[in-house]
Formats: sequence, C-alpha cells, structure tokens
Amino acid sequence: MARLSDRLPDNAEGEFYVDASCIDCAVCRNVAPAAFARSDRAGASIVAKQPRADADVLRAKMALVACPTSSIGTRSKLPVDDAVAAFPEPLGEGIYFCGFASESSYGAQSYLVVRPEGNVLVDSPRAVPRLLDRIEALGGVRFLFLTHRDDVADHAKLARRFGCTRVMHAADVTSGTRDVEHTIEGDRPVRLDHDLLVVPVPGHTRGSAALLYRELALFTGDHLFATDDGSRLYASREVCWYSWDAQKRSLAALLDLEYSWVLPGHEGRMRSSSTSIMRAHTRDALDDAMLIP
Ligand code: SF4
Repeated sequence: MARLSDRLPDNAEGEFYVDASCIDCAVCRNVAPAAFARSDRAGASIVAKQPRADADVLRAKMALVACPTSSIGTRSKLPVDDAVAAFPEPLGEGIYFCGFASESSYGAQSYLVVRPEGNVLVDSPRAVPRLLDRIEALGGVRFLFLTHRDDVADHAKLARRFGCTRVMHAADVTSGTRDVEHTIEGDRPVRLDHDLLVVPVPGHTRGSAALLYRELALFTGDHLFATDDGSRLYASREVCWYSWDAQKRSLAALLDLEYSWVLPGHEGRMRSSSTSIMRAHTRDALDDAMLIP
C-alpha cells in the first residue's frame, strides 16, 4: 500500500499521489498519461496533474491497480472495484492489456490475445484472482508465451490455473522455468500456429523472442521499445544483457516481417496505419542502434 508519509514532494497537490517506493517502470504513464508523468528530479513517476473528470479518475485508478509496487495512493482511499474490473483492457483486434504488472518482472506489461483457436497470454501479469477470472471468462489461455527470462513472474500459477502450454526459447530457460512445456531452439522463426510466429531475437538476452500475430501485432518483450508517447521505436543498449551486436542483427531481421503494431514489455506502444510505415520506424530504430558501438 502506498504511504502518504512517503509521498513524493513533486506530486501535484490533491487526491492521488505516488510515494517513494516507485521503481519508475512507466506503467502508470501508459495507463493514465493525462495524470502521471516522469520527474527527472525524483527519478520516478509523479502525479503531474490531478484527474478531475470521471473518465480521468478511472484511468488514474487503473494505474493504481496496475502499479507493480503499490506506489500509487489516494488520500481518501477511493474504491477501485471499477478499475479492477477494467482489466484486461481491450486495445482492439482481440488484443487486451492485462494491467496488474508484477514487481518481479520490473513492471513488465502483459497482453492477452483472444482468438478462436485458443487465447495467448504474452508474458505474465500478477496472478490476481479477479484478473484471472476475467481472463477465464474471455476463454482462458492456451499458450503462455514468455518473451525472455526476466518477465516470467507468476508463470507457474498461470499454468496451473489455465492448463496452458508455456512457450519460451530454450536459451532463456532457468531453474525457475525448467518445467515449461514447449521450448524454441535456434535463431530462425518458428510457427506456433497458423497466425502465430515465434521470432527469436537474441540480444537483450540470448533467448529473447518476439511473437508475431496475424502479420498485425509484434510483441517484442525487451528487444524493441516504443517511447511513452508512441512516436518512436528504439532498442536499448543500457538494458542489453547478452550481446548488442546480436541485438542489432535481430533488429535488422525484423525488416523481413509484416506488422503495423509494436507492443513491448515496457514503456509505450506504437501503432501505424500500414506495415510499410512501421517498417520505416523499425529501420529508424536500427539506424539509431547502429550508431551505438
Ligand atoms: S506504475 Fe508504480 S512503480 Fe511504475 S512508474 Fe508508476 S508509480 Fe512507479
């Protein structure tokens, strides 16, 4: 629970606040960008503008329940049932944002893809019973796709609840994930179903992998990010744990794919009106990465 006594002084005065436990994961800024912003001075998120309209208050409460560290509070302890019920949040085309980020994955964002052949959960949200009940109502989970070893969070609980097949690259399997049901080998794309393509993208970790859905959406984990405002794609040298050269090669390989929507594990998302425009954005990200040794 957020503590008023630890409220960051940079918060705008009013009902909502962020306390000193914030890990700067950006989830609140994505969920409620009208209310939350990053403070360079605090090295954390703050409430930059107090929400007033009902819709903005709901977005701020959704940020509160999505926050992985319970760092967001309200002075009058506003009820949040409506915010809990708002997740998974439909983004369009059968893709949902799960909210309820987990601290163990540094607030990684998890997505649900609802499809007739069986739903896909991309990375693990916090296994909160009310969220899992809503996922069940949407058809449960057939595949739990884990983009890399850092964002596995509550994968074991999810596998028990849904009886799903967990999928991850063999090179990222650790003692905590040795029981995953399906491992991907090698560096070439592997088809998981007619509309699902696993794309190994070594770089951030040796076994990082992206998931391409329907030549529409590319779930990129920590391989490729979008800025908070969704205007630019970029790869991060700072959080490249395995090989920057490999990551640049993996970025270049994305130019062969068709997608118009990038949904990363952290920061913002980017959607374009065409695959050719998105390819240009991906090329820009590659060009930027090539400038960094
Ligand atoms: S969601 Fe929570 S931890 Fe993440 S930036 Fe916002 S306040 Fe900080």
